[in-house]
Amino acid sequence: MALVEITYENSNNVTEDRMCECGVYGRNSPLDKASGFVTLPTGDPKGCGPDPVYNRNSSSPPWIAMVKRGNCTFSEKINAAKRLGAAAVVVYNVDGSGNSTTHMAHPEADGIVAIMIGNSQGMEVVKLVKNGTDVFMFIDVGSAHGPWMDTYWLYFLSIAFFIVTAASIAYFVFISANRLYNLSMHRRTERRLKSEAKKAIGRLQVRTLKRGDEEITCDSYMCAVCIESYKAGDVVTVLTCDHIFHKSCIEPWLLERRTCPMCKCDILKALGIEEETKEEISAQSPPEVTVITVAGADNMYEVPLTETVSPDPERHRYDNRAFEADSVAARG
Ligand SMILES: [Zn+2]
Ligand SMILES: [Zn+2]
Repeated sequence: MALVEITYENSNNVTEDRMCECGVYGRNSPLDKASGFVTLPTGDPKGCGPDPVYNRNSSSPPWIAMVKRGNCTFSEKINAAKRLGAAAVVVYNVDGSGNSTTHMAHPEADGIVAIMIGNSQGMEVVKLVKNGTDVFMFIDVGSAHGPWMDTYWLYFLSIAFFIVTAASIAYFVFISANRLYNLSMHRRTERRLKSEAKKAIGRLQVRTLKRGDEEITCDSYMCAVCIESYKAGDVVTVLTCDHIFHKSCIEPWLLERRTCPMCKCDILKALGIEEETKEEISAQSPPEVTVITVAGADNMYEVPLTETVSPDPERHRYDNRAFEADSVAARG
């Protein structure tokens, strides 16, 4: 923006001084101060053509050419005035445009201060000059709007962009870290459950079937994992629920699922192995884990299931204790 100050003597011989920040420096104008008496072209107010004549009603050298927008390029107007020795060129906007201005482009006319002002401000000065008043104009660089505003906005936007980017990166890092943490927790739980299953398998009863055993003679007995009947010499594992399976069939199954394929009986619980670590497991496998482990198959679902059942034996135990206490009291 350009600061425009005009000074003149009004009809009562009183000096009037008015200032507005209503000018806009042209794109190719130096952002500089300029001053002089406002001078209008004698003929066409637009100051076009190779040799417009300026009505210099003051003999003092510094003068500012004041021309109306239109008819020819800004460059042409500015160059013509520059050739005639103007200190600066002020272009005012076309009639009916009020206070609006544009950021003039005048690539062929640089090296001279050229600003644009609104039509209403321009006409005011034109009227004074036409009445024979000597109007002295002073042009200065105003507050930093225009190009300065652009850099300010650019600065502001880049900071905003940086903050948004940083926030989203932080969010994704947090989410990924959380997922990784849950995943590793889940793996650790899996590993422990597997080692517990191994422990449980070691405690299960293993038999080698002999000819004449009930499992061989009766057709209703078959291994539910491989769906084959038993033969003499087959090594079978007897689960805590008394269901029997081929040892080679049931062991991989138990490592993965820890339950009887027939009755869903939990062998870890039945053998009392799970009791030792149950609290840790429930603390370390929040509900989200089951959502994440898409590839982890069904077994994760069985952990919370067995967990929800687990309070029951506890209650039974308390009931029993209470009952025992009662019976002791009754006896005593
Ligand atoms: Zn089998
Ligand atoms: Zn069973």
